[in-house]
Amino acid sequence: MNEDTIFGKIIRGEAPADIVYQDEHCLAFRDLYPAAPTHILVIPKKPIPRLCDADEQDAALLGHLMLAANKVAEQEGLGDRFRLVVNNGAEAGQTVFHLHLHVIGGRSLSWPPG
Ligand code: C5P
Repeated sequence: MNEDTIFGKIIRGEAPADIVYQDEHCLAFRDLYPAAPTHILVIPKKPIPRLCDADEQDAALLGHLMLAANKVAEQEGLGDRFRLVVNNGAEAGQTVFHLHLHVIGGRSLSWPPG
């Protein structure tokens, strides 16, 4: 699996992105093809391809990503009205193989997703 994805290029500043939050461990930027009025991707700077590739050593990092998603949601004024999505693997809809949390909000969201 090729670890150098478009998200790797964004982390290295080699591809443009509308970055809304970043810290030592992660980066958050607006999805180029938003599925809702607010659609932000939170990614670790460490290139973990899929959630299922994470292990115990990544436990703190995974928690950090969720807390970063909380910060982003608050920053975007979503309050408690947002959804986090992780597509794991191609059959689940993953297209970029660098772990990312979708933060989606700004409209009512139905369940279950497709
Ligand atoms: O979960 P999945 O891998 O399908 O999500 C990848 C996301 O990355 C998509 O929502 C897509 O719109 C977004 N994307 C992007 N900028 C790119 C390529 C993909 O925001 N250059």
